[in-house]
Amino acid sequence: MIVALRKLAAVLVIAASSACAPAVGTGGTVQGTAGQPVNVILFIGDGVGTAYWTAARIAADSLAIERMRVMGLTDTRSDDSYVTDSAAGATVYATGHRTYNGAIGVGPRCQAMFRADSAAVMRNPASCDPLESVFDIAIGAGIGTGLVATSAITHATPASFGAKVPFRRMQPEIATQLAATPIDVLLGGGRGFFDGTLRPDSANLLTGLCSRAACLSTAADLATYRADDRRLVGLFAQNQMERAAVRQPLLAEMTRVALERLGRNPRGFFLMVEGSQPDWRGHANEPLSEVQAEMVDFDDAIAVGLDFARRNPQTLVLVVADHETGGLSLVMQGDTLAARYTTDYHTGEMTPHFAYGAGAERFAGLRENREVGRMLVEIVRNRR
Ligand SMILES: [Zn+2]
Repeated sequence: MIVALRKLAAVLVIAASSACAPAVGTGGTVQGTAGQPVNVILFIGDGVGTAYWTAARIAADSLAIERMRVMGLTDTRSDDSYVTDSAAGATVYATGHRTYNGAIGVGPRCQAMFRADSAAVMRNPASCDPLESVFDIAIGAGIGTGLVATSAITHATPASFGAKVPFRRMQPEIATQLAATPIDVLLGGGRGFFDGTLRPDSANLLTGLCSRAACLSTAADLATYRADDRRLVGLFAQNQMERAAVRQPLLAEMTRVALERLGRNPRGFFLMVEGSQPDWRGHANEPLSEVQAEMVDFDDAIAVGLDFARRNPQTLVLVVADHETGGLSLVMQGDTLAARYTTDYHTGEMTPHFAYGAGAERFAGLRENREVGRMLVEIVRNRR
């Protein structure tokens, strides 16, 4: 009887799924949950541990991530510490390799190379045990690439995808490398590292860059931008962008425009969007409302990515964190919920991740950050 019921249930499930399945085009995927993604949208929430998502859920009636039914936990450690920084924490997603804290797109051997001959390394920083990144592979294959952040675009997380230097503080060199690569979209802060005002050499990289790219500097520029095939460079602050309450443009608007530009590439794209500032609220042990403002800004950007993936089913949306910041916990203070922190630095706690769309289910479960990175590398390699 049980067997018969199961068979009946199986028939009903098949009937229901074929009735509900959308039309499958060439290479298309049923409800965007299987197969090879053509587009990847990777959201990195800097410092975003479980308590950060809890704070967001208390602030908002519903969250975009609730649409993402594939979930897991990430073991975030780096090559030289149980507690990673954002440079090693992003390099591992960009390359599939764990490295030392502070490294941008380069491997563990770079430290010994620097100790042996620092002058040689500083003459050519990109040659210091460089790791192949998902952006290197994508660019070689004609796949679109984009970086969006609410920090300077030369800051650790975006830099790890588009540059290779031994130390994260080398932001002028990172800007030089980002300007020289053909990355299609750069949106965030950090104008001073490109226009010369924050560079020891005072070089203005925008003169050359903007002769071939659409260059924007205000939220109004972004709102009226119409995508063409040129590179898109929007630098909206001299260094870091403002905090969420007064930030212009918001992360969701930058994400929308990045997708409009990258969606033009028939070969697909890899877009990395960082919610940079939950980490900073955590470092400064700020009140819960400030953490919530950053998290709602981040989740609003994820909603834009999920809407794109619903319209374009060959898209994978993955939301990860590089590490947790502050050891944030949520406690009752009188009759209100309040933030309590255990540190002003990062912690080694596992962080939650969420996946949606083409190829999402392979990310389910407990994953090391390097496994996640390797799977992203594999996805882009398979697209060549
Ligand atoms: Zn941090």
